[in-house]
Amino acid sequence: MSKRFDKSEHWAHPATAALHAGFRNDPSTKAVCVPIYQNTAYELEGDLSKIANVYNVKEDGYTYTRIINPTTRALERRFAAVDNATDSLAVASGQAATFIALANLCSGRPGDNIVASPFLYGNSWNLLHNTFRRFGIETRTAENSDPAAFERQIDDRTICLFGECISNPILDPLPLRSLVEIGRRRGVPVVVDNTTTPLVCRPAKLGADMATYSATKYVCGHGTTLGGIISDYGSFPFQQHPESFPLFSNPDEAHGGILWHEAVREVQDLGKSATLLKARMTWLRDVGACASPFNSFQLLQGLETLHLRMRQHCANAQTVAEMLRNHPKVAKVTYPLFFTGQKKELADDLFDRSYGYGAMLMFEVGDARNGRTLIENIDLLYHVSNVGDARTLITHPVSTTHTTVPRDKRIAAGITDGTIRLCVGLEHADDIIGDLEKALSAIY
Ligand code: PLP
Repeated sequence: MSKRFDKSEHWAHPATAALHAGFRNDPSTKAVCVPIYQNTAYELEGDLSKIANVYNVKEDGYTYTRIINPTTRALERRFAAVDNATDSLAVASGQAATFIALANLCSGRPGDNIVASPFLYGNSWNLLHNTFRRFGIETRTAENSDPAAFERQIDDRTICLFGECISNPILDPLPLRSLVEIGRRRGVPVVVDNTTTPLVCRPAKLGADMATYSATKYVCGHGTTLGGIISDYGSFPFQQHPESFPLFSNPDEAHGGILWHEAVREVQDLGKSATLLKARMTWLRDVGACASPFNSFQLLQGLETLHLRMRQHCANAQTVAEMLRNHPKVAKVTYPLFFTGQKKELADDLFDRSYGYGAMLMFEVGDARNGRTLIENIDLLYHVSNVGDARTLITHPVSTTHTTVPRDKRIAAGITDGTIRLCVGLEHADDIIGDLEKALSAIY
């Protein structure tokens, strides 16, 4: 590790960190871009007791790509610097990130529970309310509009408060500062999914303890690669709460009786987060949902320009949202810039307005027939249910993602028959608007 590398970890501006943090050059060739170490295992050369130390987390080193890989590790270091995190862990997908981040906090005893916002990405909702329930982890729900409801649901076995900074798809803002205040007071970490607003929302600055990301979306930015990232902001004192988090204070049999808070002090590169060290050495090892080296390389390319792309995504979204708000065939536009009252206060607090208010918006065109007509008359935009592509993506949830959700639940969640979700991309805003105007004109 060169001196220059050490310095690069402390870049204050994400734009610089995204290009320099975590990797200076390849030690053997001096290549400037992070090479793709498309490689599974690492030769165990030299002193066998030193090799044992690597396996026992007493020294840094590479053992097997399911646990650690040089390309993926460069991505992790760089992402951590961009995200103001102490360290990050890259995994196979956003779903893997949510699963591993939350499972890592469990003690394994019956009674562990999560208090979560109801406004979650559908598969995260399923993970919490169905899959985790089958493992004995209960999820309790509290509305974003009532932070005290989160506190009322906490008991001495609550492992975290969880929500999306701005929820996908209905754009409900998380009362993050209030949750952080409650979490600090009650000894419960706050974990956020910041997929839809990387850099635009800065969880570390707002006091969150950890964040998960589907890097598949804006971090990749080009719709080519699945990936997930967990960031640890190093703020939660797990050891002060041994009753709730025994595996953070007591010997962990899942790794030979290791004490994670001591092990983390013995290693350098992996010595920045006991939480992520534990996640890597037990959960990533056992679940096997590691990032592939090629995908890590792709995500590094995306990360380098994330700050530029997010600014342009937000600027385009604002221009499109303003056009839609004034369009006679659009009954309503939901975009955080237009919020009022408590939601506006939350949004203004969550968003770094030097970027804007995110790139996702929803609008209403009356009924399901109008929704379908609009989609059928789109030419430039892609009818795709993904988010965070460089291209503008449009969906009619009732005809796609929400076909199986009962009507009353869907309406309660803010998805009506005529709701359209738009993820504004990086085309010229005039062309996005032109395509939408043409499609809207087909509605009677
Ligand atoms: N979290 C949010 C907010 C998402 O929108 C998504 C995917 O759309 C995920 C998590 C899951 O990510 P992935 O598809 O990378 O598993």
